[in-house]
Order: sequence, then C-alpha cells, then structure tokens
Amino acid sequence: TLFDVPIVLISLLDEKRQWFKAKCGIDVCETDRQIAFCNHTILGREVLVVNDAQNDPRFQSNPLVTDWPGIRCYAGYPLSIAEGLNVGTLCLIGFAPREFAACEIEKLEKLGAVVEGLLLAYQKQQGAKWMAEEASVLAVDLQKRQSLLRQVENLAGIGAWSCSLSTGELQWSDEVFRIHELPIGHMPVIARALDFYPEPHRTLVQEALLKTFEEGAAFSFEADFVTAKGNKRRVRSTGDRIADPSGELFIVGIFQDITEQAAYDQHLWNLANLDRLTGLPNRERFVKVAEARLQEIGDNKLSLLLIDVDGFKKINDTFGHEFGDQLIKIIADRLRQVLNTKGELFRLGGDEFAMLISFNEQLRVARLCEKILKAAKRPISFSGKNISITCSIGCCTSVGDGWSVNDLFKSADIALRDVKRSARGTYEFFGER
Ligand code: GH3
Ligand code: MG
Repeated sequence: TLFDVPIVLISLLDEKRQWFKAKCGIDVCETDRQIAFCNHTILGREVLVVNDAQNDPRFQSNPLVTDWPGIRCYAGYPLSIAEGLNVGTLCLIGFAPREFAACEIEKLEKLGAVVEGLLLAYQKQQGAKWMAEEASVLAVDLQKRQSLLRQVENLAGIGAWSCSLSTGELQWSDEVFRIHELPIGHMPVIARALDFYPEPHRTLVQEALLKTFEEGAAFSFEADFVTAKGNKRRVRSTGDRIADPSGELFIVGIFQDITEQAAYDQHLWNLANLDRLTGLPNRERFVKVAEARLQEIGDNKLSLLLIDVDGFKKINDTFGHEFGDQLIKIIADRLRQVLNTKGELFRLGGDEFAMLISFNEQLRVARLCEKILKAAKRPISFSGKNISITCSIGCCTSVGDGWSVNDLFKSADIALRDVKRSARGTYEFFGER
C-alpha cells in the first residue's frame, strides 16, 4: 500500500535458496538462490533498483522475469546484522516497469532499518536463550562433579582449602570442616585457624605458611591437631602459592586426617624399635641412636655403660620365668629413674641394658655407676617373694672422631666381662687394667 506494489518480501538467503520470512502478494515460500534478485542486492550496501527487468542484461533472461511471476520492476534493501554481513533483503516487486522516487527509496531504507532492528533483537534473544540453556547444562554438570568430589573427599578423608593473600579470605571444602569437627560453613577467621594446632606445632605451621606467603615455596607438613570438640588428631597439610587469571595470589592446598595412618605407622615403628617387656628402645634402635650420637658429638665424647644383672639365670630357675620378667621390668624402671634426662636407656636383650651418656668425665660417669648399683640393690618384692640382686657395669668413653659403634660396644663389653670375672656387683672402665 505504501509503495503501491503488488509484492513485498522479507527474504533471507541461505546457501541454496532464498526463503521468504515474510511475504505479501505471493504464495510460494522460497525460490532457488541462483535466480534470486536479492542475490544481487546483498552484494552491495545500497538499495538495488531495477526499473525494467526486461531491459536489464542481468535479469532479462531470468525465469522470474520471462516466466512466472513476470517481474518487471524491483527495489531491494540489503538487510545487515553486522558490518559486512548481509543476510537478506526487504524488497518491492512489480509487474510493470516503473521508477522509484528518492523519497520512496528513503522510506524503504527506513523500513529496512526497522527489519534489521527486529532481526538483531531476535538474534540477541536467541543468544541469551542459548547461553541460559548452556549455563543450566554446565550447572548440572558442576553439581555432579561437586557431588563426586565430595564423595571422593569423604572416602579418602582429604579436604581442599584456599586462602586469598589480598583479603585473607579462607575457603574450605566440606571435608576440611569435618576434620575440624566444625559445622559445615562455620569458617573460623584466619587468625583463629592456627589455634587448632597445639604448640610446638602451631609455630612450625605458622612459619611454613609465612614462607609460602612471602616466597612462594610449596609446603607439606604433618602436625598434631585438636578439633573444635577437643579430640586429638594427626593431620597432613600441603599448600602452594598460585595466581588466578587476574593475577590475584592464593595459597591452595589439601588437608588430610592421618590419625589412623600415623597410629599404624607408630605401631609398626614400636614393633621394630621397642622392647615389648619394658617398652625401652631395643638393640636395633641402640645401634641407630649410637651411630647418630657419634656423628653429632664430633670431637666431644660419648660414654656407653653396659649393665648386666648378676646371676639372673638362677633367679629364673628359682622363682620362675614370670618373676624374672617382673624383675627385668623393675630394673628397667630403676635405671630410667637414675638416668633421668642425662642420657638414653636401651634393653639390648635378656638381662642386659645399655646407657648412652653425652659426657665422659670419668668422675661423673663413676658417680652415675654408683647410683645404678645402689638402685639395683634395693630389695625387690613380687608375689610374696623378696630378693635383692646386684648388677655389673662395663664403661667406655669415646675419644673424638673415628669411633664406631662397634668400637664403643666392644670396649664396654670387654670391661663388663672383666668385672663379671673378678668383681661382680661393681663397675669398671675399659682400659683400666
Ligand atoms: P651373669 O651373672 O654372668 O650375667 O649370668 P646370668 O645368670 O645373669 O645369665 P646371662 O646374663 O648370661 O643370661 C641371661 C639369662 O636371662 C638368659 C635367659 O635364660 C634369661 N632371659 C633372657 N631373656 C629373658 C626374658 O625376657 N625373661 C626372663 N625371665 N628371662 C630371660
Ligand atoms: Mg646376667
């Protein structure tokens, strides 16, 4: 009506056809793209005008001109949805030759701009719809992954945490709350987070964290831990400093309750290193500790005392093996008390004990031997039986570097054998004879 033409189309072009999104005065929905007038229009930026198709070399043999519907005049506005991207046309078609006035072309351009606006709005709406669909698919996927992660965390007893260096804000996974025995989401402030570690571990943890904060060095530690409910645990924590895409720095890490594992490791260690009857470190442990002490002392001197109960076989035979066991335990306790913090005590086996002492002044060692002999002599009562025993002691002191555990042990053993031979119930230093 506005242009006084019989046909108006909003035509969109795809690979093979022109498709009439909206049409007036024609019944078909599409035609072949090759013969479409619009195919020419979309190549330019301006309205394409054909006053008489029969006199236009581009169109005079076009079946749409020579045959049905018999186009003679055409004015098409190229519809653009982005710079350089024309997708179709708004076009006017007539069956008789005609000229289009400038004001009509201007009107067509304005209507074309309206159609472009509608196309862009539709495109945005579709984009938002696709994004929303995509987001909901991702949200479901994320939920699934989070649920899986929670189950894995729970099963393995491992939690994850992060801390922002700029804000100090902490983030914990559910398992981290569980290990702390805190309700999920009840996050302590960062200053309180270290309160769960008893000293001296708190200071060690703080130092490890600070080093990572300042230098970026990754850390990994195992420490004692007391939960919000006061339960004692052992935990392992690891952390590393990372930057997010915006450059903000975080420490991220994992947190694990290793109480059971640590208890089991301790159990295995005890089996390998401790004597079952007295709880004292055993012969294997003695060798390791003596080696370490010899390394540590360097030019200083270390003393070894070998202490053996006199006539123990007879006690076993007279009062029974159980009494013998009790006697070993009592002697071990007395030796512990006498030694106090002056050195380390071991049960080498049977009725033989070893003491490693980090001083070598003969007078001090002799005084310690006197105390041991006196303590051993105190009467022992068990199951209504009273006895009194004696011990013999062989002593040896290392003299500077180059001493092996074997040297030290052999020397003390020679001294012990000498005492046993000639002066039971006393002590002797190696090399005195
Ligand atoms: P000596 O005066 O020369 O030291 O001789 P002894 O009778 O004390 O015997 P010795 O030290 O040579 O041997 C220790 C004995 O202790 C040998 C063994 O029958 C006994 N024995 C070893 N282990 C145990 C134990 O765990 N419990 C008990 N009851 N007896 C043990
Ligand atoms: Mg003995």
